[in-house]
Amino acid sequence: MKIAVVGGGPAGLYFSLLMKKADPSHDVTIFERNAPDATFGWGVVFSEETLGALRDADRASFDRITEAWARWSAIDVKYRGETIRSRGHVFSGIARKRLLQILQERCVEFGVRLEFHHEVEDVDALAREHDLVVGADGVNSLARRRRESTFGVEELVHATKFAWFGTDLAFKAFTFIFRENEHGLFQVHAYPFDARMSTFIVECPVEVWRRAGLDQATEDESIRYCEKLFADDLAGHSLLSNRSIWVSFVTLRNQTWHDGNVALLGDAAHTAHFTIGSGTKLAMEDAISLAEWLQRWPDDPQGALTYYEMDRQPIVERFQEAALESARYFENVRRYSRLEPIQFAFNLLTRSGRITHLELEKRDPRFIAMVDSWFAGKPEGSIAPPPMLVPLRLRDVTLPNRVVRWPVSEDDAVDGVPSEGLAERLADAARSGAALVLTEMVAVAPAGRITPGTPGLWREDQAESWRGMVDRIHSETDARVAVLLGHAGPRGACRPRREGVDRPLREGGWEIVAPSPIAYAPWSRVPKRLDAAGMDAILQGFRHATELSDQAGFDMVELQMGHGYLLGSFLSPLTNPEEDRLGFLLEVTRVVRQAWPRGRPVGAALNGADWAGGGATEDDAVGLAQSLGQAGCDLIHVLAGQTICFDRPDYGRMAVVALSDSVRNRAGLPTLVGGDIRTLDHSNTIVAAARSDCTVLLPPQ
Ligand SMILES: Cc1cc2nc3c(=O)[nH]c(=O)nc-3n(C[C@H](O)[C@H](O)[C@H](O)COP(=O)(O)OP(=O)(O)OC[C@H]3O[C@@H](n4cnc5c(N)ncnc54)[C@H](O)[C@@H]3O)c2cc1C
Repeated sequence: MKIAVVGGGPAGLYFSLLMKKADPSHDVTIFERNAPDATFGWGVVFSEETLGALRDADRASFDRITEAWARWSAIDVKYRGETIRSRGHVFSGIARKRLLQILQERCVEFGVRLEFHHEVEDVDALAREHDLVVGADGVNSLARRRRESTFGVEELVHATKFAWFGTDLAFKAFTFIFRENEHGLFQVHAYPFDARMSTFIVECPVEVWRRAGLDQATEDESIRYCEKLFADDLAGHSLLSNRSIWVSFVTLRNQTWHDGNVALLGDAAHTAHFTIGSGTKLAMEDAISLAEWLQRWPDDPQGALTYYEMDRQPIVERFQEAALESARYFENVRRYSRLEPIQFAFNLLTRSGRITHLELEKRDPRFIAMVDSWFAGKPEGSIAPPPMLVPLRLRDVTLPNRVVRWPVSEDDAVDGVPSEGLAERLADAARSGAALVLTEMVAVAPAGRITPGTPGLWREDQAESWRGMVDRIHSETDARVAVLLGHAGPRGACRPRREGVDRPLREGGWEIVAPSPIAYAPWSRVPKRLDAAGMDAILQGFRHATELSDQAGFDMVELQMGHGYLLGSFLSPLTNPEEDRLGFLLEVTRVVRQAWPRGRPVGAALNGADWAGGGATEDDAVGLAQSLGQAGCDLIHVLAGQTICFDRPDYGRMAVVALSDSVRNRAGLPTLVGGDIRTLDHSNTIVAAARSDCTVLLPPQ
């Protein structure tokens, strides 16, 4: 094949040498606009997982790279004057210049033609003259820009600014530094890349960068500013610039990575935020895959390009997801300023969701022992339970651990009286060892039921029936029992959910109400707009149901304010066009708080986000949680979606946990979160990292 490679970065060089190595008859030319020894940035870090693929693809370059490695196994988190060290990680770093040199040497050994100082300006011309053009020309790729719509480019510009400096100080660990001055909070990601030098990336929010005047500063002025701010950490060493200008990171995705005989490789095809240090690794693994598929399918380059894309895209997407999680952490790090250094460090280390409590325990049992004893309030060095087994106190109620079970509804109540089946489901959940068992939604009025089988609390006989269940759980287990009080609003008068969700009753329905006449789904009934009298009646319903909940012996009341039921539909702009969307929710909370014993907690389940364009957002949830806290609410149960029928759920790992993290740490209230939490390890990680105070654990599948 006659191949033109645009860009002599790690992707272009590695691909070219692998192609020539596999078949010397290929004619491969790399066009690189810069000189051989000119590059941006300083050192790059690799995690140990990378090594196998590189070793198998080309042993000689692997050996030369690993001979030049700086290796270390610790991560230091410097925060509020303390340094917290966690060991047992495996990192290797190399100067970017050295890496490129090694790859260039290998290219020369295999006979790749290297044309430096050659800026490609017309990719189409190259495509006409070659069998294959590989766009390995980095994040601003010309090969991609010439046909953005074909590639289906998506770009996310991150909200922080960073500058990639070097320093003549070799750090002993991967070091995260957080320093605050009069302009705001700055963070550093520093790691050694040879015996003398380290990479030193300084990052801060755009507003902080502007306040500090860094938007107007020259490279020298920026260096002086950062040297002063991080003087203690640099211990007399200098910062060095290599075209180290302030930029915003761009996460880039392309729907497809090839068009005709032009293929994208490395940063030209995708980027992953630098805080997980994977861009070079991904670029080099792309090169391995593309070279392999082209070798396997020599007669069908188009087929090879398709297989290359199918092979690499899912892997890259997983890294991008973890990188976004990590980037979000650094963008929002201010919200963790209330955390103690040890919890701050644990939160940082588990930020991307890939490293858990258990994984850290395997890597560094001493570090996890420190986290656990701190979390349990025990002296360092003593034996402490894992975080999820540490009790949680809410007013006078102590939950013996952090696990909550929330059995699913079977719609099997009769006239609001809970069934034997429901009693068994709750008792089963309590026997599992959970600290808190939460009922399905219990209607405060007959017209507030979701289906005819929704249990209720508007009559004494219903309270008696609940009393029996609650007493039984209290006598047989240590679990506490919470009742989820709600009103179905626009999602009411439906068939039992085993016959399909949100399907209106064919007959025997009742009038449904909402803040405005907006139907939940096209096939739903249109609700009647609630007037003042209607709202007052519902308010009294909540008061009465709270009194009955007390009679029934529940330990906690939780109000259903999410998932598009009545109170949730007040909050969302999609279902309530009024200006004041919080007023009624706060009134209900105050009424319930008054009717409920002072020593027992009130919780509220609310949507951390509607997952629908124009719907309630994370910021709305934080605002509501703050107001609910002032109205006497003690725990926020974070849900998401289901405000309208056609929402777009985020199925990403930890999507709801991220919302809980935001509500908890911004509003300053304890949270409960569910989602796809199935393991004790997951639960320990979430709780110890202050992303939530307790978790709804799903039974194993
Ligand atoms: C601050 C920061 C820190 C990072 N840290 C790490 C890390 O620790 N570990 C890690 O693995 N990754 C890291 N990365 C990511 C890593 O730098 C990239 O993912 C990697 O360089 C991608 O390699 P590439 O070959 O695809 O692109 P590049 O390295 O960008 O190479 C593209 C090449 O194409 C050339 N070029 C562009 N246009 C043309 C043209 N028209 N004609 C000719 N030549 C052209 C450029 O000069 C350049 O040499 C970091 C990135 C940043 C921004």
